[in-house]
Amino acid sequence: MADLHPCDASIRHDLRTPLNHLIGYTEMLQEDLPAACRNLLAAPLQILLDDAHQMLQTINRPTLLSVGRFDALLPDWRSKMALIEADFSHLSTLIQAHWQSACPDVGKIHTAIGQLRALAETLSAKPAIDLGAAATAKPRDTTEASTHAEGHLLVIDDRAENLELMQRRLMREGYQITTCNSGREALARMDHDNFDVILLDWLMPDMTGKDVLGKIRSKFSAHELPVIVVTARHGSDMIVEALTLGANDYLAKPLDFPVALARIATQVYLRKVTQQLAEANRQLKQFSYIDGLTAIANRRKFDEYLMTTWRRSQQEGAPVSLILIDVDYFKRYNDALGHEAGDHALMKVAKAISTSLFRVKDLAARYGGEEFAVILPETTLDDALSVAERVRTSIIALELPHPASSVLPVVTVSLGVAQWRPTAFCEPSALINLADKGLYQAKAAGRNQVGTLGRA
Ligand code: GH3
Ligand code: MG
Ligand code: MG
Repeated sequence: MADLHPCDASIRHDLRTPLNHLIGYTEMLQEDLPAACRNLLAAPLQILLDDAHQMLQTINRPTLLSVGRFDALLPDWRSKMALIEADFSHLSTLIQAHWQSACPDVGKIHTAIGQLRALAETLSAKPAIDLGAAATAKPRDTTEASTHAEGHLLVIDDRAENLELMQRRLMREGYQITTCNSGREALARMDHDNFDVILLDWLMPDMTGKDVLGKIRSKFSAHELPVIVVTARHGSDMIVEALTLGANDYLAKPLDFPVALARIATQVYLRKVTQQLAEANRQLKQFSYIDGLTAIANRRKFDEYLMTTWRRSQQEGAPVSLILIDVDYFKRYNDALGHEAGDHALMKVAKAISTSLFRVKDLAARYGGEEFAVILPETTLDDALSVAERVRTSIIALELPHPASSVLPVVTVSLGVAQWRPTAFCEPSALINLADKGLYQAKAAGRNQVGTLGRA
């Protein structure tokens, strides 16, 4: 469908606004109808609603170009207006006689009719309008609403009546509602509150819905914060524009409330499921970094962390230190006490290594088999040697009996330490090789000690 001539579109929009309020308040009266008044009031309420919807169709109907004055262009809408006024006068008399408590909403319907009448009079005096392409009425969607969902919604609309209507009806469904009458205020709220869905009016003065959507999408993705655009314009160009700019869905005014509820519930649900999925992925990733036996970081995490540390040190010129740790005579340990006891000892050793590290950025990992590694970012060789010594003594302090060791009667480890200041062209394997040489030296010198070839 082609877009409307701008002038025609804005006249139709102006007419629809009070009519939408009229419909909204009437529907709320219908929903609130006490059982005692149902027989008497259900029919007149429905008649008022039907006539209001007919008038809406008239306003949305395609019209021919340039025919005299505006009222000649829409010949039957004056008579529809008269019908609405008659319906309402009958209804309000009945309500005042039988249902006093509903008077505030009746007053609001009255105001909406007054606005509609004033607009009609202004438009009758207007000269002819070149309408360009014609509009067609959108068929009313009769989809049944789904059951309500929990969620915190932010409703943004420049008109107090729209905000009130949406707030009251959505709160009834169980939603928590925050309302804002300007985009600026709404954006400020989003910085502090966690909303599940935003309902955004497209036509607003100052900051338009389009401006607000642009700002929202520069901060939050469509998965993080769904936006449903609410518009009185029926042109497909506007809807396509909103969806292209990152809206998740749209709703046409007057809101077909069951449809609005179903669409809001869908977005709330999708957001919840997406969040759960992201959390599950985060946990899966965490698990993929953990060694199954010892529950400390695994080789994959070691490789990634060493690379990250290395790159940062290349930029900052900071030293990186590495400790390689190997359990002494562990084959004999298994042979003497069994593989299960060996597993148990590795778990204890891993725990002792981790608890010997005091800084959050230091990482203990299982390097493979009965070998462990410690990455010490921004650490000099001297400091790394003290950490290595602390690890060595903490393993002895475990006092895990090792009947087959020729070093001590308990489990001991040998450690190789190295420090490197990474330059642009060297890779982490250089540091690993240097630490490995230190470890070989410690083994050769009798085990249960720290060996190093120094720094580079
Ligand atoms: P060295 O002092 O020279 O390091 O002697 P070692 O016996 O510790 O060295 P070697 O490399 O010959 O043997 C390592 C042993 O560690 C062999 C292997 O069965 C054992 N091992 C490796 N991973 C595990 C494990 O997950 N559980 C158990 N129980 N043993 C393991
Ligand atoms: Mg080994
Ligand atoms: Mg060993």
